[in-house]
Amino acid sequence: MGNYHHIVNGRASDLPLGKVVCVGRNYAAHAKELNNPVPTEPVLFIKPSTSLVKLEEPLAIPSHLGECHFEAEMSILIGQSLSNCNHEQASEAIAGIGLALDLTLRELQQELKEKGLPWEKAKSFDGSCPVSGFVPISQGTNLQDQQILLLQNQQIKQNGNTEDMITSVLALLSYISQFFTLLPGDIVLTGTPAGVGPLKPGDQLSLSLSDSIHCITEVGSSAG
Ligand code: ZN
Repeated sequence: MGNYHHIVNGRASDLPLGKVVCVGRNYAAHAKELNNPVPTEPVLFIKPSTSLVKLEEPLAIPSHLGECHFEAEMSILIGQSLSNCNHEQASEAIAGIGLALDLTLRELQQELKEKGLPWEKAKSFDGSCPVSGFVPISQGTNLQDQQILLLQNQQIKQNGNTEDMITSVLALLSYISQFFTLLPGDIVLTGTPAGVGPLKPGDQLSLSLSDSIHCITEVGSSAG
């Protein structure tokens, strides 16, 4: 992965790899497909920097812990420190947007949920957050109109739009910053649209975020 985030368009980035703050159930249709209630407040969890790998490289998924699901999500790269921020401050701090997979050991997560335990083992393991490079946003970028597309072996599995988020990007950054200071180099994952499913070795994945990000990757042999 290297030590710094990658900005598409050739600009060098001096943003170090930080933590990843994620939101669960930010699309109603996805909450429903997993039989979860639609939350009244964002459900947050964190992946450490050791979860980060490049999306373009073959994915190493654990083989002995049950099904590992893909969840394609729009990612936000943070460029300035945010604490108790408002929407305007949040907007100014966005260094770029990209795509990420929130890899999830679904059976283990289900087990942990039933016991009322934290999800980290199912969500935050090494390699659980493959990320693309980031494209800087401009005046014309509408964060709430980005198409997220994931094909597994040429079949469309996820095809959602960020307009369907329950909590919008700026509201989410503001909410997160009430609990966790976001530092330059941190990433926020904004939730997955419906259509998640299990991965198996040899799967080919093709992902895109509107016209700005296109990635092809595959599931490699297991990480053991
Ligand atoms: Zn997710």
